[in-house]
Amino acid sequence: MFTANEAMITTDPVPRLSQNGVMVRVLRTDRLDEVVSGNKWFKLRFYLDEAISAGKRRIVTFGGAYSNHIVATASVCNRLGLESAGIIRGEEPESYSHTLTDARSLGMKLYFLSRTNYKSHLVPPSLLGPENYFIPEGGYGHTGALGAATIPFDKITFDTVCCAVGTGTMMAGLITASGTSPRICGVSVMKNNFGLEEAVRKLLKDTNQEVNIHHAFHFGGYAKKNDELIRFMNELFAETGIPTDFVYTAKLFYGVNALIRRGYFKPGSNLLVIHSGGLQGNRSLRKGTLIF
Ligand SMILES: *Cc1c(COP(=O)(O)O)cnc(C)c1O
Repeated sequence: MFTANEAMITTDPVPRLSQNGVMVRVLRTDRLDEVVSGNKWFKLRFYLDEAISAGKRRIVTFGGAYSNHIVATASVCNRLGLESAGIIRGEEPESYSHTLTDARSLGMKLYFLSRTNYKSHLVPPSLLGPENYFIPEGGYGHTGALGAATIPFDKITFDTVCCAVGTGTMMAGLITASGTSPRICGVSVMKNNFGLEEAVRKLLKDTNQEVNIHHAFHFGGYAKKNDELIRFMNELFAETGIPTDFVYTAKLFYGVNALIRRGYFKPGSNLLVIHSGGLQGNRSLRKGTLIF
C-alpha cells in the first residue's frame, strides 16, 4: 500500500527572497517522494480512492512526453497494485524521454495519439471497458482540487501563499483550503493563458472567491526557458539549497522574487511559496546546465 509520508514536508526559510520587509518560506512538498512528488500525490489521491472502491483494475490518464503527472500516476499505480495506461500527446518518438522510459518501466502501458486525435480524446478501444478508471490530464477536476486542498500548510502564520499554475487544480485546492486567508497568489507557467482564472473558478464551491494569477513570468510559454531562468535556478540553489524545475517552480520563484522586488507585497507580509515538485523534468536539460 502506498501512503505518502507527509512528515517529509518541511517549511523552510528562504532568505534570498526575503527583502523589502517581506518574509518568505517554502513548503517543500517535493520532499514527499522521488517520483510521486509534490502536488501530484495530493491531486491523485481521491481519484485513486474512488477507483479502488469502485473495484477498477486500471487507471487511464493523459499527458505529454515530459509530464510529471504521467510518471507520478505510473509510480503510484505500480505501488498500489493497479494497472496503468498513459495516453500520450504526439506520435511515438524514436527515443523515449526519461519520463516515458520511467513510466514504461513502472508498468504503464503507453498509447501515442496524434495531436489531433489527442485533442478529440480519441481513446483506444482496448481501454473502453468497465475495468478502466479515467483521470483527466493533469488531474484537473473537482476530485483533484479536493486532494490538493489537503496539502498541509500553516494557515495562521502566512497571509499569502504562492503557487505555480498549470491546469489550476492545485490553486483551486489551495483556495478551497484557505477560504479568505491566506490569499492565494498564482503564477501561470503558460503564455497568455487567460482562460486559467475561469478554469480555477470552475473548481471552487464559492465562485465569488478571488482568483489572482500573474501572467508575466512564462519565459516564452509552457516548458520554455532562457539563460536568465537557468541562471536564476542555479543562483537560488547556490544560495538556499532549493532545487527547482524549469517548467513550474523556477518560474514561480522567479515571479515571486520579481513581485517582492517591485514592492507588490506589503512590508510585513508573510509569504509561503509552494514547492510543488517536478524535479524529474530537469533531466531533459543538457548535462551541466544546472549545478544540482
Ligand atoms: C503539475 C505541476 C504543477 C501544476 O499544477 P496544476 O494543478 O496543474 O496547476 C505545478 N508544479 C509542478 C511541479 C507540477 O508538476
